[in-house]
Amino acid sequence: MLPVVVVHGGAGHIPKERAERSTSGVCSAARAGYAILRGGGSSMDAVVEAVALMEDNPAFNAGCGSVLNIKGEVEMDAIVMEGKTLASGAVSAVRNIANPVRLARLVMDKTSHACLTAEGANLFARQMGIPEVPMESLITDYSRMRWKKNLEPNANPVECQMGKTGTVGAVAVDAEGNIACATSTGGMLNKMEGRVGDTPCIGSGGYADNEVGAVSTTGHGEAIMKVTLARLILFHMEQGKSAEEASDLGLAYMKSRVNSLGGVVTVDPRGCWAARFSSRQMSWAAAQRDTLHHGLRSGEHFTQSIDDPH
Ligand code: ASP
Repeated sequence: MLPVVVVHGGAGHIPKERAERSTSGVCSAARAGYAILRGGGSSMDAVVEAVALMEDNPAFNAGCGSVLNIKGEVEMDAIVMEGKTLASGAVSAVRNIANPVRLARLVMDKTSHACLTAEGANLFARQMGIPEVPMESLITDYSRMRWKKNLEPNANPVECQMGKTGTVGAVAVDAEGNIACATSTGGMLNKMEGRVGDTPCIGSGGYADNEVGAVSTTGHGEAIMKVTLARLILFHMEQGKSAEEASDLGLAYMKSRVNSLGGVVTVDPRGCWAARFSSRQMSWAAAQRDTLHHGLRSGEHFTQSIDDPH
């Protein structure tokens, strides 16, 4: 079954004109992650590269393409976790960084902390030699248009985001059986300055444990945190549920308990995987045994050879 990588490009309702870009973005990310695994690389390298590629892709709400906060600025959150030692690293409310997921990994690798926030995270980035980029380079016309629209008095940014969201994440198991997850986001549309969502919170935006599996989540962060969605799904797997059953149980609980929709990608230590969502859509892709799997709408599951031209 091993190795495997599964990625998502955010839960919600992706408008028709953006669906194609979202699908090709997740497929490229899964291919990139799988190339690393196929070459004998680690699951951590695979999830970081897959997520960094989607951060660079303006089709997603992460890195370039992030949604804007109430002031029209970009503040991003990201997490990585590796299942062998349960080490994790995260950044929250970080600015002017092209790839927050790489910074989260450096927090894990180079500090004794699990999360750095705001100016402290930026200071650490400077110390690590990560170049700062102008905020303008992370802002797209689309994100500015949606920010403006949601400043109107009768706007409902949460509803609007669940209409067009695009947080990114990945989970992977490598040939040695090591498991990892990574998630990255610009957060919620028109959020307050300094708002931190579920993504950098261990057990909510992601979790990885070699003994159980890994999950990366997407949806309304305030709801995901209430049910600690990633860890809840792994709890169900500890109780003997499959990756798919556990994902559905976690999402159903979030819907019934806090009335909120979302999506997840999940793997278990044997390489069984799931991409599940309660929202209308979630772009996802998985790569395993030289086959690329992908889908966007409920019930959709396309496959092709990983080496097929895109
Ligand atoms: N979970 C992210 C947040 O609340 C948003 C998303 O997944 O779309 O920051």
